Amino acid sequence: MIVVMKIGAADKELKHVCQKAEELGFSPHVIYGKERNVIGLVGTGGNRDEVFILEEFEGVDSIVPISKPYKLASREVKRETSTVNIGGVKIGGEELIVMAGPCSVESEEQIVSSARHVKAAGAKILRGGAFKPRTSPYSFRGLGEEGLKYLAKARQETGLPVVTEVVNPADIDIVYKYADAFQVGARNIQNFALLTALGQAKKPVLLKRGMATTIEEFLMAAEYIMSEGNHDVVLCERGIRTFETATRNTLDIACVPVVKAKSHLPIVIDPSHAAGHVQYVPSLSKAAIAAGADGLIIEVHPEPERATSDGAQSLTPTQFSKLMSELRLIAPAVGRKL
Ligand code: PEP
Ligand code: MN
Repeated sequence: MIVVMKIGAADKELKHVCQKAEELGFSPHVIYGKERNVIGLVGTGGNRDEVFILEEFEGVDSIVPISKPYKLASREVKRETSTVNIGGVKIGGEELIVMAGPCSVESEEQIVSSARHVKAAGAKILRGGAFKPRTSPYSFRGLGEEGLKYLAKARQETGLPVVTEVVNPADIDIVYKYADAFQVGARNIQNFALLTALGQAKKPVLLKRGMATTIEEFLMAAEYIMSEGNHDVVLCERGIRTFETATRNTLDIACVPVVKAKSHLPIVIDPSHAAGHVQYVPSLSKAAIAAGADGLIIEVHPEPERATSDGAQSLTPTQFSKLMSELRLIAPAVGRKL
């Protein structure tokens, strides 16, 4: 944190800032310049929330935060990119990881058949929701534990690890029993009770960006989980809400290079919830890989027209296989394997 004093600020104003900074737990270091002076506030023990009061002090021009408010998630703290192991599958390395499966688990047959199809096409992780966060309370909200059992069956049949959403902290234990990774949905990104509890759980978390969260808030949510001891966080950009209505959300592709610059955590893209329409999913998937994402999470349903949720954005197994072949051409162009 740097406090930039105004040109011509009085000496006593500078001293006042230094005194307050010390009270807040920082060591102030004054750098005397030709035109103006700046004060470096050093130390991690300082009170970051209250330090912004200094901006209101006489003689202060501005405050420039230097170290990020997130620490464990930040590249300042860990320079090398992290890899996260989900049931033996490593995300964040040279190999791109595609997770695929239906929006919701609907029956044993549906999820096992989805798993077989996506595995044959090259997916490495199976997705499927058993607890569904739905905008309408009248929509299908998932099969709950029964769905988790079907997911476990699909893993047993195919060997694919399973990622599935947990909506409520009270369900963490039950989801833990069956899943290889927890998904935190867009609507829960700032459910701090859930994030804290997942930070204490011993399985990786796929953390989806909220539809109205900034990248900094996204990384702060990751920090919540990590600060509790669970460092296995995979970030997922799934589109944010803008004025555009032609797509369900607007895929913030810039999130990939920005997150890569600011954080060591791996990041994947969910083109399905970004697009909302199956016809746009392939283009967004390709853009994601080209932009440097570490993988994708894609909705695939054996019969999208019968899906209980998100059928309009779900690829058929045939469409998914075709997309995977196209992605295989792009991966080496950006130094990745698929
Ligand atoms: C999902 O993955 O099916 C889902 C509900 O996603 P999101 O939280 O991104 O809307
Ligand atoms: Mn969905």
